[in-house]
Amino acid sequence: MRAVKQIARVFIYPLITSMGIERLFSVASKNNKLILVYHGVVEQPNAKVSVGPISLKQFTQHLAYFKRNFNLVSLETIFDMYRNDFVPNKKTIALTFDDGYENNYSNAYPLLKQSEIPATIFVVSENIEMEDRITWYDFLDLVKPDLELTKVNFEIIKTPPQRTISNLKDLVKSLDIERRTALFAEIKKQLPNKNYLAQYPREHWRLMNKNELRVLSDSGIIEIGAHTQHHPNLGSIPSEWVYKEVSECKRILSDLLQKEIKSIAFPDGSYTDEVKNICLSVGYENLLAVDYRCSSDKNDKNILPRYCLSSTTTYESNIIQVNRHFRSYGF
Ligand SMILES: [Zn+2]
Repeated sequence: MRAVKQIARVFIYPLITSMGIERLFSVASKNNKLILVYHGVVEQPNAKVSVGPISLKQFTQHLAYFKRNFNLVSLETIFDMYRNDFVPNKKTIALTFDDGYENNYSNAYPLLKQSEIPATIFVVSENIEMEDRITWYDFLDLVKPDLELTKVNFEIIKTPPQRTISNLKDLVKSLDIERRTALFAEIKKQLPNKNYLAQYPREHWRLMNKNELRVLSDSGIIEIGAHTQHHPNLGSIPSEWVYKEVSECKRILSDLLQKEIKSIAFPDGSYTDEVKNICLSVGYENLLAVDYRCSSDKNDKNILPRYCLSSTTTYESNIIQVNRHFRSYGF
């Protein structure tokens, strides 16, 4: 299977895109609008770092392709089109970035600005204040090689010991903040040196600071959206926490940027009908899923799905997938 994939990537996909055949996929779909998700955009891809940003080189190619073949609009515009049943005569896309990486500011933004391409960046508000400015899940990915999980005392948070980083991540997704803070302090105690993160290239994990967020928000082409206060899975925590997560994030970002925060992307694509209602009740207008999770979603004009680009495949493969996914993720 792997060999077949490799042959497709090296020979077949480049052939398809050089002939423009991939466009037939999107043309064949009756859906004309699609929202894409990126995370990081890095100059130096590094396989040692397990978090998954796309290379700046590939991102540059994506933008050139999108400009040639699609209409690029803001998230707000694509929601307006959706709410008004407007059918653009050209396939239309909106770009979003999750988690608020500093590389969005240093690598993606200059290109977006140069071509006046709008985008929305979804930010986790707790990280703005933190010294390390790293998401908790990137942190767990980075500590993986050096952390002996058997040495971590899970009794302090009254949970059974976790055997793998993947299990640990699943636990943290629905852990309350007090216990999460205690757990991370315990994990840091087990790490070989205090300056642990310094060994990893900063552009892979560092998140934006307040100033960078202000510059983007004032640029006229970047919308800053919410991605909760602590990046939990909203679909698996009690509703009082959901309320706190989404309202605190909104308050912190709007205080910082002096703007109404209208859009929210659900971490890990996790939500329920109740999560949607809470978000609308605190004033969000545009809700972003990955896959639709509720039966009400298809007739709900406040929520849209998004297609995530792959950070581990080639330019040609990603471009083919974008065209293909107008059918499944488009609207
Ligand atoms: Zn996220």
